[in-house]
Formats: sequence, structure tokens, C-alpha cells
Amino acid sequence: MPDVRIPGGVMTVAGSYKPGDQAPDGYLAWHDWAEAQHKAGLRQKECAKCGRWKYPQELSGQTAEYTGTTRGGQEVRMVGVVCNACADLPPNDQVQR
Ligand SMILES: [Zn+2]
Repeated sequence: MPDVRIPGGVMTVAGSYKPGDQAPDGYLAWHDWAEAQHKAGLRQKECAKCGRWKYPQELSGQTAEYTGTTRGGQEVRMVGVVCNACADLPPNDQVQR
């Protein structure tokens, strides 16, 4: 929790967050929250759908398969975790092709 020195005292500018709390709204609050998660040893993983980096409590437990390409040009099937926001979306990429 960042404290800001002001004349005559210290002002606390955001709430305190516990490891495992869901992310708050707001830029400064988010960074405050992320610092608490990181200090607790939690690390982010990249969502296999949106590519955003998420802490474990933001991940749905679902996985998604996607096709990656190696440096040699070989296509490989990859499995990655899916964040809560993507898990709530309709599964439009699971349509038969
Ligand atoms: Zn996602």
C-alpha cells in the first residue's frame, strides 16, 4: 500500500490487498493489488485466448488448445490456461471447421 508524504503527515492512497483477492478497478489500485500478489509469490500466466497475463485467481481452470509454430516451421498443438473473462465468452472458436 503506497503512502504519500504530505505536509503534516502521511496519506494512504489505496486499500490493502491480500494475496488471492480479485483484481480491483482502477490503474493505481490495480498496481497496488498486483504488488501484493507478487510479494506473496504468486506469478502470472498468459491466457491462451486473449494473451493477457493473469494471476492464478483470475484463471478459470479451463484450458484451450492452439496451434503454434516452431522455429523450424513445424506446427505444434499447445495447451494453455484460460482467464475468467475468456471462459465467460461464448465458445465461438470451437465451431466445426
Ligand atoms: Zn483471457
